[in-house]
Amino acid sequence: MKLYNRLSKQLEEFVPINPDDVKIYTCGPTVYSYAHIGNFTSYIYWDLLVRTLIQNGYHVNRVLNLTDVGHLASDADDGEDKLEKGAKREGKTVWEIADKYIEAYMKDFRALNLFPPTTIARATDYIEQDMKVVDTLTEKGYTYETSDGIYFDTSKFKNYADFAKLNLDQMRAGARVKFNDEKKNVSDFAVWKFIKDGEDHAMRWDYLGRPGYPGWHLECSTIIHSLLGEPIDIHTGGIDHIPVHHTNEIAQSEAAFDKKLANYWLHANFLTIEGEKISKSLGNTYTLSDLAEKGFSPLDFKLWILQGHYRGERNFSFDDLAAARTRRLGWRNRIATCYQTEVESTFDKEKALELVSNDLNSSEVLAYIDNSKLNLEDWDFIDRLLGLNLVYTTPEIPESLQREIYLREQARKEKDFKKADEYRDHFTENNITVLDTANGPIWQYLS
Ligand code: AMP
Ligand code: ZN
Repeated sequence: MKLYNRLSKQLEEFVPINPDDVKIYTCGPTVYSYAHIGNFTSYIYWDLLVRTLIQNGYHVNRVLNLTDVGHLASDADDGEDKLEKGAKREGKTVWEIADKYIEAYMKDFRALNLFPPTTIARATDYIEQDMKVVDTLTEKGYTYETSDGIYFDTSKFKNYADFAKLNLDQMRAGARVKFNDEKKNVSDFAVWKFIKDGEDHAMRWDYLGRPGYPGWHLECSTIIHSLLGEPIDIHTGGIDHIPVHHTNEIAQSEAAFDKKLANYWLHANFLTIEGEKISKSLGNTYTLSDLAEKGFSPLDFKLWILQGHYRGERNFSFDDLAAARTRRLGWRNRIATCYQTEVESTFDKEKALELVSNDLNSSEVLAYIDNSKLNLEDWDFIDRLLGLNLVYTTPEIPESLQREIYLREQARKEKDFKKADEYRDHFTENNITVLDTANGPIWQYLS
């Protein structure tokens, strides 16, 4: 397999530390509102990564975190904690907000048929371990205290600027005005924040004799150390993580544990919508439910994402989504035909795997599917590789219709053909038809 590694800025052959235990960490969502389709872009590409590794024979041990504390509005160390903001917005406790949006996120995760991570870790379950990491950093002389927290001194970590090729001089010049004057260097970041008297911050833990909470970047270093151990094989995230979040994760982890954090770093590019940035003010923060309201399945969106590449910018439009939907339904109809007539395959599964193993080049596999004849076994392989639920469909017709398909089958068995035909007419009215195959009835869209 070949992957583009941010560390070397090159396409590299993937060499795992241990093929039976490929360790992957994915920076997960901040659970303070519904995830939009931009957020899910990268999770779809990492689903492809995991499925491609599995098809190549690797065993994957993957951790995804859920940020339920400490992510401040500015991504740096100021502004309000996003969870606290969500709680105020909805008149709920921060814990209720976290539970609500974790549930919503997991529901979407399943709807997209994303391969379940080995472990899903909530940041607030690792607070004790966070404190130990801060202790270690302090013992090693990497931290200093200010009035609002404990900061990592980035000047003590000599390769700090390397990962993102940061220009620290430029950062210093640019930040002169709003530079927090208690910070020694503009790039220093909080590993622990203190809660001031009277400050409204519900999530709090006692550390060093006063209430506080972990800095946002810390949870990923702590969770990786607790569940996977350094170095891990692959670390994934969005391109926005490169200059701050991942740079800081590397500094903390490598300073604390004296080991390389990850061998391969993969970043997904951003999604724009009809040429615009996703933003609340433009009203284009679409969720999967918004797409469903317009008649699109989450798997239409997944296929549309897989038509592109994780390193390329994607520009979403409803016209293109409709084209992806047509492609997916066309494939489903081809599968329905496979149940009726024997298809002589011209599809080479090894070749398809080779295509996608070249830095997750799914679009070439999709074109290869369009240009080949696939039998059921091939389609089953495609489902395992791309997770599109083509053969084993998740129910996307109303349950009442699914029940009618079952009832029609019963009527046929009892030779009540009049009743069976009534059901068939009702299916036609609902734009579906039912094919009777040796494996039972399967439905497909009429148009
Ligand atoms: P958050 O839940 O706010 O921490 O966001 C999770 C991640 O979603 C971000 O860090 C980005 O990597 C990713 N993300 C946010 N907006 C977009 C977008 N428009 N396109 C692709 N990824 C995005
Ligand atoms: Zn992270």
